[in-house]
Amino acid sequence: MLDADFFRRWMTATAASVEREAERLTDLDSPIGDADHGSNLLRGFRAVTAVLEKEAPDTPGAVLTLAGRQLISTVGGASGPLYGTLLRRTGKALGEDAEVSEDRFTEALRAGVDAVMALGGAAPGDKTMIDALVPAVDALGDGFVAAGAAAEEGALATTPLQARKGRASYLGERSIGHQDPGATSAALLIAGLAEADGE
Ligand code: ADP
Ligand code: MG
Ligand code: MG
Repeated sequence: MLDADFFRRWMTATAASVEREAERLTDLDSPIGDADHGSNLLRGFRAVTAVLEKEAPDTPGAVLTLAGRQLISTVGGASGPLYGTLLRRTGKALGEDAEVSEDRFTEALRAGVDAVMALGGAAPGDKTMIDALVPAVDALGDGFVAAGAAAEEGALATTPLQARKGRASYLGERSIGHQDPGATSAALLIAGLAEADGE
């Protein structure tokens, strides 16, 4: 079973990998975006860490809805509302239970990813964070490590794609040949699950 501390560790692990990888995320956002993805997420996840410490929510659902709200209010770019919606919707689907099963979490995350697709209009293959998130949810039944590997593979597979959503889509065919920054950060987020589990 997964408790509030597990979800807090998930957010902390993600914040730590965003700190480590911010420069790379911004570099990826430079040829096909506006070179701010790393700094956007750095600001967002620092704020998430701070608010979770301050308010200490005590259920899985409350941890994720608070984190999502914080991302929406602190990240100006497209990724803020999208990641914010992902976490808020996932948190809402977890309800008010003190502990949730991994199966319940898988279904909640699926609802979260569906909400991101509804908000942003992206489908798999459009070269966005969705290309890492959908395979991750599909693999989650096989465990957190499998989900992390699937997300990483999905992120790498965005390179040959032409972007059809977000800023990168303005480049048309010139978006081909670059890895999507949002799919890359989504893989970091999913990798954080195994880290939270191992601690
Ligand atoms: P901005 O493009 O506003 O500067 P960021 O650089 O923080 O925002 O985030 C860019 C990332 O957001 C992209 O790499 C892509 O993965 C994701 N993204 C952009 N638009 C969408 C969308 N409509 N649906 C899903 N993901 C999207
Ligand atoms: Mg950007
Ligand atoms: Mg921007």
